[in-house]
Amino acid sequence: MPNQATTAIHGAGHAERRPGSPVVSPITQSSTFFWGGPADGDLRYTRYANNPNHLDLARKVAALEATEDAMVMASGMGATSMTFLALARAGEHIVASTHLYGATVALLRDELPRRGIDVTFVDPFLDGTAALAAAIRPDTRVIHIELPTNPTLRILDPRPVAEFARKHGAALTCDATFASPAVLRPAALGVDLVIQSATKYLGGHSDLIAGTVAGSKEMIAAIRGTAKLYGPSLDPHATWLLDRGLRTLSVRMERHGRNALELARWFEMRKGVGAVVYPGLPDHPDHALATELMNGYGGMLGIVLTGGAKAADRFLGRLRVAVAAPSLGGVETLVSQPRHTSHADLSREDRDGLGVPDGFVRISVGIEDVEDLKRDFARALTG
Ligand code: PLP
Repeated sequence: MPNQATTAIHGAGHAERRPGSPVVSPITQSSTFFWGGPADGDLRYTRYANNPNHLDLARKVAALEATEDAMVMASGMGATSMTFLALARAGEHIVASTHLYGATVALLRDELPRRGIDVTFVDPFLDGTAALAAAIRPDTRVIHIELPTNPTLRILDPRPVAEFARKHGAALTCDATFASPAVLRPAALGVDLVIQSATKYLGGHSDLIAGTVAGSKEMIAAIRGTAKLYGPSLDPHATWLLDRGLRTLSVRMERHGRNALELARWFEMRKGVGAVVYPGLPDHPDHALATELMNGYGGMLGIVLTGGAKAADRFLGRLRVAVAAPSLGGVETLVSQPRHTSHADLSREDRDGLGVPDGFVRISVGIEDVEDLKRDFARALTG
């Protein structure tokens, strides 16, 4: 089994090498494919996510996530919603962590109940599987978590949750966008389905929207069947671009992680910074677990400015290298305030309760020269 860095470049299998064959797979910009009859095998149609670009990329993602199969989708939310809709029917139940991306919360809280799917939210950090045990029902089909969480970067140990889910006949699904498979492989820790917003680290260049879901052949076949009907298929050109970005995942994640750790230590010594949130720092509540489970600590970082909301607004307004923008995982450093973006729906008290007070600034650390970033942040802090 080749190393992840090699797989991200060359794919899972051996491409045919003949004189003149392209080193880079071409974009197959075709909606349909010649099919003379049943002897020709499965029908190919780009909405079915079985365009050659889709299939190459899906094989690569499955190898990176260490799962049997995977599927490419038109967005991270596409991958999330198709997963839930494939696994749970009307009258069935989902248990979800309270620490999730905002749109995933809205999907679970507002949209799925409209379709007859019941959802119970549980804070898995409060009392672990005891909280899950109180919420689980005979008709629970899915337990959904996010690792690491946004923006507090908490890391839940998925192993006991996976064991609990298996015992109760539910699938454990995990959105691991904040880590990427180069930093964390949840399937190796018992998670059944791993979801990525490929818009972020997998693509890596803030130039496309895509999603992936990886798991067993059986579960991916079920999701494929649902997605065939709802239709969130990724365009072949975007699929090719995603594969282009994915080739450098390993080297990008190394640099994201190195820059983030150095900046975390640097921010700790800055006036006006009340707290630094990074799993690589010994005072992070999940530092030991992160060290055990992750390859490095990832590229996401949080700082809490003592001057609160005003100081955070000023900080963002003064940035010249880092870009004030939502999203994450691009080569460029992206800075946002959860109170305006992912957590805008919540009251100030609820945000405080989640550890996201006013003054919290989320930084998706890019791969720029770290000294340039320090100069930019120093200027933004002091004016
Ligand atoms: N999951 C997480 C953790 C995210 O941060 C996001 C987007 O920010 C998504 C899922 C949704 O991804 P997309 O925008 O590709 O639909």
